[in-house]
Amino acid sequence: MSSVRIIGAGVAGLVAATQLVAAGASVEIIERADGVGEASCAWCAGGMLAPWCEGESAEKSIVTDGQLALDWWPRHFAGTEQHGTLVLAPARDSGEIARFARRTTDYQWQDGEQIGRLEPDLAGRFESGLFFAREAHLDPRAALRHLYDSLQSAGVRFAFGVDAQPGDALSGVDYVLDCRGFAARPRLTDLRGVRGEMLIVRTHEIKLSRPIRLLHPRIPLYVVPRADGLFLIGATMIESEHRGQVTVRSAIELMNAAFTLHPCFGEAEIVEMRADVRPAYPDNLPRVTQEGQLISLNGLYRHGFLMSPTLAMAATRLVEPAPR
Ligand SMILES: Cc1cc2nc3c(=O)[nH]c(=O)nc-3n(C[C@H](O)[C@H](O)[C@H](O)COP(=O)(O)OP(=O)(O)OC[C@H]3O[C@@H](n4cnc5c(N)ncnc54)[C@H](O)[C@@H]3O)c2cc1C
Repeated sequence: MSSVRIIGAGVAGLVAATQLVAAGASVEIIERADGVGEASCAWCAGGMLAPWCEGESAEKSIVTDGQLALDWWPRHFAGTEQHGTLVLAPARDSGEIARFARRTTDYQWQDGEQIGRLEPDLAGRFESGLFFAREAHLDPRAALRHLYDSLQSAGVRFAFGVDAQPGDALSGVDYVLDCRGFAARPRLTDLRGVRGEMLIVRTHEIKLSRPIRLLHPRIPLYVVPRADGLFLIGATMIESEHRGQVTVRSAIELMNAAFTLHPCFGEAEIVEMRADVRPAYPDNLPRVTQEGQLISLNGLYRHGFLMSPTLAMAATRLVEPAPR
């Protein structure tokens, strides 16, 4: 049985820990924040498990490997909701739907009536759309808390408030997994940051069952329903490593998208605005890299929840190779 120290309790670290424990490894986790949560980029995420939709702009490996997440998350987090994704566009941008359809697979075209059957509160508002029935979504914060609780119950030790450096963390264990996200950039020098901003609003005037992607030639955005009338509106994609606060321009664009989806979002209460930096390699693909005892899981870009299971399985194969 290998002993593994994981640095970083974001989505990469917690999913890897879950997978390693299942393979029989002894695991401990070091996190520089005081708990699982706000310090990680994962706290900002929409929680969409949308491999086919992502195929619009991502490499084929995201579409194929990302499908693993649709099996992994429901087995490890009962709150995973598998109601698909609906892709829509305002009438003036309807050409965007045909363009999206040409670049993706695994969808059915929907007319206005079918859209109304899927989402009754959107009835009569859109003439056509695409339905990706096999996609799913989850609440990232609830999912991370759940993994944390399960790992604690499985005997994994957590050290919070410790700012660890991978090189210094090697003693006393067989492997160290560096899951620090963008904070690993000083060591992983080809990592870059892609800023993402999001809003959370609350309204009980509309109900949605699934993430809605609203296409636009410049700023495609999405609205993801959560419990208690909450909706996450996301997300900007800006080539910047500045974490900072949400800008006025981005807030206006995000709110406009929600208002275009349904005017009742105009009366919604703004609960939260947040920005973070997605860790990305130049090809926007995640990687597992190894230097002796040190293994890095990084570059999850906009696919933290979608691709963590794939990275965790690859790391587990390095740490606990299957018996011959
Ligand atoms: C607005 C937005 C929306 C997104 N939506 C989605 C989505 O819908 N679906 C999806 O799959 N992905 C989405 N993502 C992407 C996803 O959030 C990221 O890919 C993911 O969070 C990266 O995971 P990570 O574990 O590598 O890094 P993080 O989540 O940032 O976790 C890294 C952890 O390491 C800790 N750490 C850092 N340095 C140290 C140190 N020295 N010692 C100890 N601990 C340390 C940090 O405190 C943090 O907890 C979105 C991102 C953004 C910004």
